[in-house]
Amino acid sequence: MRMKYHVYENWLHDKAIIHKSDCVYCKDGKGMFPGRQYNKKNGQWWGPFTYTQAAVKAIKTGKFRVNECSICLKRK
Ligand SMILES: [Zn+2]
Repeated sequence: MRMKYHVYENWLHDKAIIHKSDCVYCKDGKGMFPGRQYNKKNGQWWGPFTYTQAAVKAIKTGKFRVNECSICLKRK
């Protein structure tokens, strides 16, 4: 199966982070606290995407910082 990616748009910290869908922070776009309001106050998830789509979406959010997750997309 092809890897899917999600983007977390964080309003609080003005950033967008690209995650793999199986990342512990992402959980297929549900986040660490599924069903809780906590997540919705701080930002929102977009996806699933291919990597390229995720990168484009992250930039289109217009956030000050765009990054890859340091856990699931850490460079080897
Ligand atoms: Zn991640």
